[in-house]
Amino acid sequence: MLTIEALPLAVIISAIILGGPLTLVIAIRVFNYWYGNVRVKPVNTGLAEDQGSPLGLLVTWDNESFDYKISRMRLEYSEIFRGGLSLATSFTFEDKQAKKRSFVLPLKLIPNELKILTVFNDERELKRSQLIIEVEATDGRTIRKRISKKAVINALTKTPVDAAKLEVDMLPPKEADTWAVATRIFPWRKVVEVVADAPKSKGPSAGGSAVAQIFDFIITKVWIEPGCIVCDACENEAPDVFQVLADTCIVRDNAPMVNTGSIVAAAEGCPVDVIKYDRAAKPA
Ligand code: SF4
Repeated sequence: MLTIEALPLAVIISAIILGGPLTLVIAIRVFNYWYGNVRVKPVNTGLAEDQGSPLGLLVTWDNESFDYKISRMRLEYSEIFRGGLSLATSFTFEDKQAKKRSFVLPLKLIPNELKILTVFNDERELKRSQLIIEVEATDGRTIRKRISKKAVINALTKTPVDAAKLEVDMLPPKEADTWAVATRIFPWRKVVEVVADAPKSKGPSAGGSAVAQIFDFIITKVWIEPGCIVCDACENEAPDVFQVLADTCIVRDNAPMVNTGSIVAAAEGCPVDVIKYDRAAKPA
């Protein structure tokens, strides 16, 4: 009896018999496109974090059918829920180093970027997070693949990839391009949640200011721990407190600590959680 799994094959064989050679050619092309085109899979590279990164991407394609010269890999990660993060980065090969053969690319990410891609708090994060990988060829062709956060995390629990066995090139760990962006999605909403009775306000910064007057604590000290990625978010939120320099962010001399809401919003909004503060009970 014909099983459900065998049905597509039966349909194709019937179509070939009924349609003749032309259908056969079309079927071969479809199969070739489907199985021979670029595929991207997260893999465990077996490298420690200080050697490069345990996370890599296996990029495979049939280079006899598809003459791609891959020049860039772009990663766009997003968490679609309150307080979620997004991260965008890319890895570019110079034109003459463009990859003509399937390869494993160990992603040399900074610890916080690796954390964003591989650490999760609850199931909701796994369901509402996704990684889009864009593979760009020198001739402008671009292929986009979607990978779940779960697949990224699972990859790291598997045995390290054996590039020789797969007959692909194992590339040296590669630094990300310098324009990488990480930001927190809707940070102000997280702050507004702290006080449900806060007066209604419009816009992101307004959310932070609106709650400032009804926080039940004051901020006594603010500092920045190492790891700032100079994204400017804190200075936009509280310009009188934070100053973003070329390679880090500082707390301004004699910065006023009176606007609790905007400092909390800046700390909540920092994509790498390096803004810290001490608090004390609000004087009666
Ligand atoms: S401290 Fe955080 S929010 Fe401020 S610039 Fe650095 S990374 Fe961005």
